[in-house]
Amino acid sequence: MIQTKTIRTRFAPSPTGFVHIGGLRTALFAFLFARSKHGTNLLRIEDTDQNRLVEGSLENMLSVFQTMGIEFDEGPYVENGKIKQKGEYGPYIQSERKEQGLYQKYAEQLVAEKKAYYCFCSEERLDEMRKEQVALKKPPMYDRRCRNLTADDIQKQLADFNLAGKNPVIRFAIPLEGSTVIHDLIYGDITYENKILDDQIILKADGFPTYHLAVVVDDHFMEISHVIRGEEWIPSTPKHLLIYEALGWQPTEFAHLPLIVNPDKTKLSKRQGDVAVEDYLKAGYSPEVLINFIVMLGWNPKTEQEIFSLQQLIEQFDLAKVNKSNAVLDKNKLDWISGQYIKTKTGKEIAELLKPFWQEAGIKVAKFSEEYLKAIAALEKERLKKLSEIGERTKYFFEAPDYDASLLIWKKSDKEKTKQALSDLVILFENMDLSAFAKATADDPLHFVSVTAETIEKWVKKMIADKNYDNGSVLWPLRVSLTGLDKSPGPFEVAATLALALGKEEIIKRLNTAVVKLG
Ligand code: GLU
Repeated sequence: MIQTKTIRTRFAPSPTGFVHIGGLRTALFAFLFARSKHGTNLLRIEDTDQNRLVEGSLENMLSVFQTMGIEFDEGPYVENGKIKQKGEYGPYIQSERKEQGLYQKYAEQLVAEKKAYYCFCSEERLDEMRKEQVALKKPPMYDRRCRNLTADDIQKQLADFNLAGKNPVIRFAIPLEGSTVIHDLIYGDITYENKILDDQIILKADGFPTYHLAVVVDDHFMEISHVIRGEEWIPSTPKHLLIYEALGWQPTEFAHLPLIVNPDKTKLSKRQGDVAVEDYLKAGYSPEVLINFIVMLGWNPKTEQEIFSLQQLIEQFDLAKVNKSNAVLDKNKLDWISGQYIKTKTGKEIAELLKPFWQEAGIKVAKFSEEYLKAIAALEKERLKKLSEIGERTKYFFEAPDYDASLLIWKKSDKEKTKQALSDLVILFENMDLSAFAKATADDPLHFVSVTAETIEKWVKKMIADKNYDNGSVLWPLRVSLTGLDKSPGPFEVAATLALALGKEEIIKRLNTAVVKLG
């Protein structure tokens, strides 16, 4: 039935701080849905709870979405450091919409039609009531005392409130009988008995609407066709449907997205460190990796494909492929996706991506040639998972490593043998001529590294055979003396890369340092 209607969907966050992984997922699904249907995706800021606002969170949120490539066709955006709004259904910030008086108007209309009522109960009375209900193990719910006041009572109480300079709140009168069915596009039909639903406040004493009223009024006037949001909003949906009905409006379609849980099935924490998109970006997961990871939190392409560009996602996205079962946030999967992405990049592309992370680790990359950075990036890309790891993993390419002498000794070797092997390597490198390669392959650093690595390997293997060493007792200390690490790319590639920028002299210097370290 909706086919004839223009598709309009929205992301409607409350600006209460950082962007939660779950929020990003909702925004992404709404965006993909709108794009895949040639519809409109808008951003609406739900700031009716003025106590929960956090300074700067809207700016932060807009910048995260821009980084992630999630676009809004209407709503707030930043231009020259200022928040502006675009679109014909504005304003898109609820505190500004309040000024239009729509929330007030429809709340009053519902009161006039006896579908809502003034509630004069004090906080103290409501507290008492809740405590009693909890003691009796009943679900806390307003007891509807003000629902049946006589017209005279209402006039009198209004006059008293007026004198005291106060306003009553307005509550929605849920039908006492019958049931309400959500036709959810993902979960199917969900039926709620009306009698279990609370008479929710829809307009607060300060004149601000609550979420329940604002969401219905705004979705209606913004002509939203599809509401896509987390499954934690399912229990609110029958209330929204009843408000639509009371106002005589056609409700939107609803699609609720499955809960995101930890691998141990526990609820995802609200702690910023675990779930803030900003922190994932800072950790060095690129936007395209995060998009790929997040789309899998509930969406299943029903094929073997695991890596998607945003464009491919737009082409393939379908609400029918969203799961009902909980989506597990598996960070190993994130690392796997990230590794896959990095592998597809050229050394040059990765070097560009890595520059800020090198800088962050205190490495002055500007002092080194582009060729060198490219070669390092190409070498690391097979093993790199997140870009932020690059500093500690490649520091030795920029300065001589510091490490404990004991690390030099391979498990099946000993100190004397290690010292001997390192001294033999010094002589070997002194006799090795790598300059010919350097000239021949100056334009192609990766070629230089591979040819040089092969040459070094041949020389070292020959020495191992001639002197009757075993591989480990030579290759292990060679690698450690160059990198200072127990895990790194292979010794021949590392040596060849170092030779590219710093010459074989650097290799000899590091081997000598290792000999000295062993005493
Ligand atoms: N403001 C709500 C939130 O913060 C929006 C829920 C909805 O999409 O209706 O998630």
